[in-house]
Amino acid sequence: MSEPGADRDPFDLYMKDIKPLVEAGQSIPEIDKHLDMVGREPYLKELVDGYSKSYSELDGSNLFKDILSCLNFHFWFEQQWDPIVLALAVLEGAIAKALPAVFYVPISGDKGCGKTNLLALLRWLTRGKQFENISTAALAREVGYGNTILMDECDIIYNKDQQEAQAALLRQGYKADAPAYTRWDKDKKCAEEVEVFGVKFLAFRGALDSALQSRGYIIGMTICKTNDAYQYVKRNLFPERDDLPERIAKWGEDVVKRFAPRKGKREAVFRCVRCGTPITVEQTSSELIGPFECSSDQSGCGRQASTTKFILIKKPLRECDMHDRSKVKEVMYLEGFDEEVKEIVGQLGANRSSELATIAMLVAHLAGIQHEVSKSLKTANTRTEMLAGEGESEDMEMLWDIVERLHSEQVVVGQQKRIDDGQSVRLKQSEIKNLFNLARKDVGKKRVGSSTFAKLRRSLGVKDNLLAKPGNAIFWDLPVPLSTIANRKSGGDSS
Ligand SMILES: [Zn+2]
Repeated sequence: MSEPGADRDPFDLYMKDIKPLVEAGQSIPEIDKHLDMVGREPYLKELVDGYSKSYSELDGSNLFKDILSCLNFHFWFEQQWDPIVLALAVLEGAIAKALPAVFYVPISGDKGCGKTNLLALLRWLTRGKQFENISTAALAREVGYGNTILMDECDIIYNKDQQEAQAALLRQGYKADAPAYTRWDKDKKCAEEVEVFGVKFLAFRGALDSALQSRGYIIGMTICKTNDAYQYVKRNLFPERDDLPERIAKWGEDVVKRFAPRKGKREAVFRCVRCGTPITVEQTSSELIGPFECSSDQSGCGRQASTTKFILIKKPLRECDMHDRSKVKEVMYLEGFDEEVKEIVGQLGANRSSELATIAMLVAHLAGIQHEVSKSLKTANTRTEMLAGEGESEDMEMLWDIVERLHSEQVVVGQQKRIDDGQSVRLKQSEIKNLFNLARKDVGKKRVGSSTFAKLRRSLGVKDNLLAKPGNAIFWDLPVPLSTIANRKSGGDSS
């Protein structure tokens, strides 16, 4: 039995009791009667106006349909859930500032399958920023908090700077409170903090880092296999451009305003060294702005910045702390939310899939499209788990082949020595890793870092107790026969 009244949380009251009646077409007096809220009609009206606007007048659902038809008009998708996930991600980008985290969208496909055109359309829809060969300087200049980023060919790394920029942007950038990337600005001779949070669309050809694959739902682009192929070519030569991006941006702003309002101005406080007065300056960009003068409006001495100095005494809040996300949080605790997420991932747990599905459903709820997307998310989840697993087992095969060869030949590579007890063979880790990375390069994959390599080593069955560190180098002391350590499985790690 529900007791609609002042003691109920208004959001909860609206979602559980009022919304179903509104959707059933009942008028306010009818709902009033139905819920037995006699005399509380004005309150009811206030709730309906406030919250139903949040959901229906904000028009997330129509917007979603329009994005979907725009994608389907310009591109052929082999799998019908791909454009659905893409459309959801476009909406996600518009409300990133309201979210605690985002899911990425890796887009795989061969050359000529239309990935680049797709990115162009997504960039138009999201008003995002596109990079191919990103540098740390570009990162600082162009990536802003919560902005959507599109990257083409992101599995090809040209140089160290690009590698650093990309790692800074992608590794942590899915979390709203991710640590800012700190960069030394040579011109200004000061450290600069760059916010990296936001939705990322990542087109790739070869194999994307498995860590990144599992940060999102993978979209597969293939060359159009129907008779309409040529129609898509023509449509992409003269893409239909209407006011869709404006509507998406407006919707995003409204959602953020209603569900994660800004807590106020972002301000920094400085002290004038001449008179000691604290001067507050509103911050409008990621770059720290100091006072132009020791403002007399703030009881300062009135000196211009050129005739005094200002010392920062209070840093501005970070962008991620500028929004009150309590309303967004409430959505996650709506009745039935857990079941919806469970429907997508199969089993709820403290894992990546559950986190991604939670974010996806959060976006879906804020757009009022949870029923339209849940099936597609389920399929996308299954496929992503499968692909991410495949990537790892392919790596395991490769690594095994190398270790097996070195082991069976008992070769001496570089400084590596064989232990002549007949029971084990000592292989130098750096050599194995080099050969492994060369093998990856052959199939168009990037080098792996130490932590990924360590994970693969353990998956292979070479546990830490088989490592030896006689000098500065690390060796693997592998038993003879090698098969006694072999932990080869067709799937991933079952632990
Ligand atoms: Zn002063």
